[in-house]
Amino acid sequence: MPFDKLKKEYSTCSRCPALCSSRSQVVFGSGNPQAEVIFIGEAPGANEDKQGIPFCGMSGQVLNELLNSVGLSREDIFITNTILCRPQDNRNPAKDEVENCRERLDKLIEIMQPKVIVTIGNFATERILGKKGITSLRGKIFEVDGKKIVPVIHPANYLYSGRNPEMFKQMKNDFETIAGVITKENKSNKNKQKKLGEF
Ligand code: URA
Repeated sequence: MPFDKLKKEYSTCSRCPALCSSRSQVVFGSGNPQAEVIFIGEAPGANEDKQGIPFCGMSGQVLNELLNSVGLSREDIFITNTILCRPQDNRNPAKDEVENCRERLDKLIEIMQPKVIVTIGNFATERILGKKGITSLRGKIFEVDGKKIVPVIHPANYLYSGRNPEMFKQMKNDFETIAGVITKENKSNKNKQKKLGEF
């Protein structure tokens, strides 16, 4: 299966020397490999590096709460990151590290063919949309190669803000938008299938 092949291929990746020495494992992603929705974060942190699962720390708890608030769970989606390996001391991913991981993310998207991609924070949003500025991009719906892209605020930003309730309200709104896009995509897919069945 191409998904498993890609995962295996990257489990021993050595493209980024600094990341190879700071990681304890490659965090490929988790959730449903057949999902039609992919969430893309920034990079694994210390917890993720230890457990091999994206968003399994404090940011992950916020993410789970947001997903649950619109009736979604981690089993409904697939989550990965802009880069697969933990940078030392949680520094930002370097430009060349994002580039070295470009082919992997492109291949994953090609294999999974998601209808919706949610970019979490600035790094993922810039990587997928080529645009900067999560504050103005968040909650808007973009389209790239026939896929709907929705950028959202990174849960870490919310945690750094001291759990600003206003920010959380915005985040919840953006997750309502995501749920709306998923419902709409599912409906249009069903209609297409129905039309095909008529022939
Ligand atoms: N932050 C991210 O961007 N990704 C993770 O996997 C965890 C925290």
